[in-house]
Amino acid sequence: MLIVMHHSATAEQIRTVQEAVQAMGLRAEPIPGSERTAIGVLGNQGYVDDSGIRELPGVREVIHVSKPYKMVSRDFHPVSTVVEVGGVSIGDGHSPVIIAGPCSIESEAQMLASAHLVKAAGAHILRGGAFKPRTGPHSFQGLGVEGLKMLRTAGDEAKLPVITEVMRIEQLDAVCRYADILQIGARNMQNFDLLKEVGKLRRPVLLKRGMSATIEEFLAAAEYIVAEGNGEVILCERGIRTFESATRNTLDLSVVPLIREMSHLPIIVDPSHATGKRPLVPVMAKAALVAGAHGVMIEVHPDPDKALCDGAQSLNGEGFEALMTDIRRLLKFLEIEK
Ligand code: PEP
Ligand code: MN
Repeated sequence: MLIVMHHSATAEQIRTVQEAVQAMGLRAEPIPGSERTAIGVLGNQGYVDDSGIRELPGVREVIHVSKPYKMVSRDFHPVSTVVEVGGVSIGDGHSPVIIAGPCSIESEAQMLASAHLVKAAGAHILRGGAFKPRTGPHSFQGLGVEGLKMLRTAGDEAKLPVITEVMRIEQLDAVCRYADILQIGARNMQNFDLLKEVGKLRRPVLLKRGMSATIEEFLAAAEYIVAEGNGEVILCERGIRTFESATRNTLDLSVVPLIREMSHLPIIVDPSHATGKRPLVPVMAKAALVAGAHGVMIEVHPDPDKALCDGAQSLNGEGFEALMTDIRRLLKFLEIEK
């Protein structure tokens, strides 16, 4: 429920409404706006009888929100969230963030080469998976904690913050020891226990859209994290399952402007997993930025043909450099370079 106050409502009237909400056993969160204050009501499981609120002095309107998310919505939080990590700002008013690196951490040499290569081309954050959610059990499953150490060393050497996926609650301690951003993959978007646990941390989280998740389900998943107290959430569109099999997934770019309107959280795009095809990655990365994405995540491997995972969608050093040159030109054209 959202209580919208008159623009002339006094501080006293706002306080009285807050107390009335609290007396109903619910939480009241004031949302100051340029025109008027609103009060978000949290903690209700279903419809709230608003008869005691509607009549209070200074109340203009009571809006019942039936969506499964509130705290991540713009209605409840009109100011855009900017996530800060290792000197990089992700969100409105900042140049789009470029996250790059291999699908999987394979060796120290591969990780160091990747880190230097993406840094030299202008990336801001290094990626690499140590715990891999592979479709089949016989595929490379990742190097685990040893891999995390390699990622951290490579990030430190190249002076890049690092991001990696966490698949299970038991992996959280180790991942937090080595990574700056925790990634929750598409397959775990609705692992509610994991979402609640990362919500208790104070560490940025990149939440990827589930492959069959609606936007409402995607935002409700983010709500699990924010509701536990961790507001540092970045959303990531990575393609969804459709009838089309010519691409690995179908990149749903329309979610970018839609989510920017519906939520205050930053949204980035992963064109690598969305397309699964190297030649499509650069053009869809640029399309994502034109659509208003706050960044892109690109799989880059020093030798994609030898990659243990997702080589077909990974750019090599040359391909990534060319993309970065194009992105710089594009941002100048769009005048969003800060
Ligand atoms: C990844 O980014 O490493 C990954 C596994 O992606 P997704 O969860 O989107 O499939
Ligand atoms: Mn991958």
